[in-house]
Amino acid sequence: MKDLDYNKIRVATISGRYITYDHVNEFLSSLPDIFVIKIEGESVRKESIKSITFGNGPKKILMWSQMHGNESTTTKAVVDLLSYFNQDSTDVLKLVEECTVKIIPILNPDGARDYTRVNANKIDLNRDAQNLSQPESRILKKVYENFQPQFCFNLHDQRTIFNVGKTNKPATVSFLAPAFDQERNNSPSRKMSMKLIAAMNSKLQKEIPGQIGRYDDGFNENCVGDAFQMKNTPTVLFEAGHYENDYERDITRKFIYKAILKGIKTIVDDGLDEFTVDQYVSIPENGKQFVDIVVENTDYESNYLTKSKISPIQFKEVLIFGKVEFKPELHIFEKKPSEFFGHKTLNCNDANDMLWLEENDLLKLLS
Ligand SMILES: [Zn+2]
Repeated sequence: MKDLDYNKIRVATISGRYITYDHVNEFLSSLPDIFVIKIEGESVRKESIKSITFGNGPKKILMWSQMHGNESTTTKAVVDLLSYFNQDSTDVLKLVEECTVKIIPILNPDGARDYTRVNANKIDLNRDAQNLSQPESRILKKVYENFQPQFCFNLHDQRTIFNVGKTNKPATVSFLAPAFDQERNNSPSRKMSMKLIAAMNSKLQKEIPGQIGRYDDGFNENCVGDAFQMKNTPTVLFEAGHYENDYERDITRKFIYKAILKGIKTIVDDGLDEFTVDQYVSIPENGKQFVDIVVENTDYESNYLTKSKISPIQFKEVLIFGKVEFKPELHIFEKKPSEFFGHKTLNCNDANDMLWLEENDLLKLLS
């Protein structure tokens, strides 16, 4: 199957980092009746949590986005996916016959409104898979049990700090086949997750070579992916990350969309066995060597951080009047890497760079 032109599919009216149901509802209500929209329940603050179901085939795929409220890139990608499903094409007709896709676009609407990772009770829903203390967690569990998916896509964003392996390439997309036990063994379902990721990786390597990473696989039964993997449902964690100059993540969304579509097509075509566990394992792990800006030749006292005349700066995302702004702060590494990279590098000996630092209100950070 050849891909349809993404530029015709992309839903341009939904963009930027701040995404709530207010931003997606109009698009959802514009979809024809073959898209079944259902209110699955309510958040802590009584906002409706919706699902959209498409297709009537036997292969069932469940995906949810914005379990962490400030991770909206994958929500834009599933909106684009719905737009794809709304195209008049033989590819789409085949998918309708072969699979049923259920999407929860925003699982944590209160966190989405507040632009926080946690929900309104300040609970991380991705640590609540066993306790089920939150209404949002119980809704996901109920949808999972009623729908009985053969595959789950757990959709997230990751910070700009991640690089691929030890390279200076950003981890624009990272994947994980979550573990189901402490020893991180491979079960049949975990192997299926791995092969599915290998399929998506092969697709993405053509678009963003060297910019795909593998997320840390430490086991935690309180994480939703691990919990579903424990129930033998192949689950894939998607992490949308940084692409050059794309802080709004409207370029990264395209790669997530393409990865999801490749994943669905691989499942529909019974193509998993064309890929191997080894191909998954050979995807480099995420490093943590990036900061947003590296400023060289600074005299700033805080260089004790780096023991050099270099200052690392990291943006903090702040919600201001319905828009996410990026506030620069000096970065303190959890553990200082032997080498680190900047998405942007500036030099205090360069007049233009100094001007840029001044215009962006950064000089005061360094003095
Ligand atoms: Zn997340």
